[in-house]
Amino acid sequence: MVCSGCGCLCDDLDITINGGEVVEVANVCRWGVNRFFNGKKFHATKQRCRLRSPQLRRQGRLTDVTYEEALGQAAVILTRARRPLLYGFTNVGCTAQEAALKLAQALSARLEPADLPLMVPYYQSVKKYGLFLAPLDIIRDQADAILFWGANPLHSAPRHLVRYSAFARGRFTERGLEDRQLAAVDIFRSELASFCHLFVEITPGQDLLLIQQVIGRLTGAPEPAQRIKGARRLADFLTAASYAVIICGRGVGYGPAVEIFDRLGELAAHLRQEKPLAILPLSGDFNSAGLYHLLLRHLGEVGAPDFAGGSLAIHTSVVNFQEVDAILVAGADLWWHLPEATRQHLLARQVPLVLLSPFANQTSTQAEVVLPVALTGVETNDVAYRLDGLPLPLRQILPTDLPPDHQVLSDLRLFL
Ligand code: SF4
Repeated sequence: MVCSGCGCLCDDLDITINGGEVVEVANVCRWGVNRFFNGKKFHATKQRCRLRSPQLRRQGRLTDVTYEEALGQAAVILTRARRPLLYGFTNVGCTAQEAALKLAQALSARLEPADLPLMVPYYQSVKKYGLFLAPLDIIRDQADAILFWGANPLHSAPRHLVRYSAFARGRFTERGLEDRQLAAVDIFRSELASFCHLFVEITPGQDLLLIQQVIGRLTGAPEPAQRIKGARRLADFLTAASYAVIICGRGVGYGPAVEIFDRLGELAAHLRQEKPLAILPLSGDFNSAGLYHLLLRHLGEVGAPDFAGGSLAIHTSVVNFQEVDAILVAGADLWWHLPEATRQHLLARQVPLVLLSPFANQTSTQAEVVLPVALTGVETNDVAYRLDGLPLPLRQILPTDLPPDHQVLSDLRLFL
């Protein structure tokens, strides 16, 4: 079985089912196992609350209604809006992502991928400096230098370290960690520091200067007046590698991601004259890559497609929530991600939320319409793209009477 817990999409799970219930899951991390037992990601002993019935908010309380009533109200909210937004879609299958794109077009809405701040700058850098494709299996087999930049796989893709990067034993890296060098750059000392050979701790905003100084050392530029601690050792680390990978995590998305990816692209392009070097973004969401592949296939560009006014514009910067007046959320917990000031602004303007989710979350506490959906990869079949772009089939193993998210999105389109 494939696990749809994160972008690693581990395909070696052994699952025991007895009497229509999962009783045991093997070859899985604690996050993954919670996917099958409805546990919370960060609190394995706590259960997540499943949404079972469509609900509408009436006099401030969520009330159970029929599927058609909930769809009808969602359609009213979205069609009345002047600037509707469809948000998330990195934690749903490919079929749901396709349905969401069609819905955005039908509504003349904007579709905002949840991890746009990390992924779009990465694709911009690929466009400018070229793509060096490194499937995870090749990284495991051949990469002898792995640099984590603002990334902590333990918190975003736990088995990445044992299956593909740090500890994995590959064809030419049979001794795992002994056959490769690891480095990490972060603004605080993360767990990676305990086994990385080099850990460079920087202050927020020092990324650009650090990359610039590494490039300077590699190209023989004069020594800068103000040196960043670790730049020399980082340059030596990359020089000594025969196959290097830079894995960028969400930390990059919190900074000037466009400039960071641009400089990393420049660094990679320089080093690629001598050796293979790949840059890989590490989004924790299980089908983030699928959404960007879909946008590339259908629109030829990545970003947030906006069909306002019947024409298509593709935005590369994050949506201004002050402009939107209705939001449909699927495959993300929008309320959890938003800064407090933005939440207050949305509340003050009474912007209605429509939520598609298998579980209750922070967004469901604010939603006007809640539409429960089946859990992708456990209760419904679909396809997802692994973080390196490999499509994998997700299989239904448990029965459910809840509709899959792509079905709800398609039905909603019929109600418009
Ligand atoms: S690393 Fe991700 S895909 Fe693999 S078992 Fe854990 S949650 Fe599932």
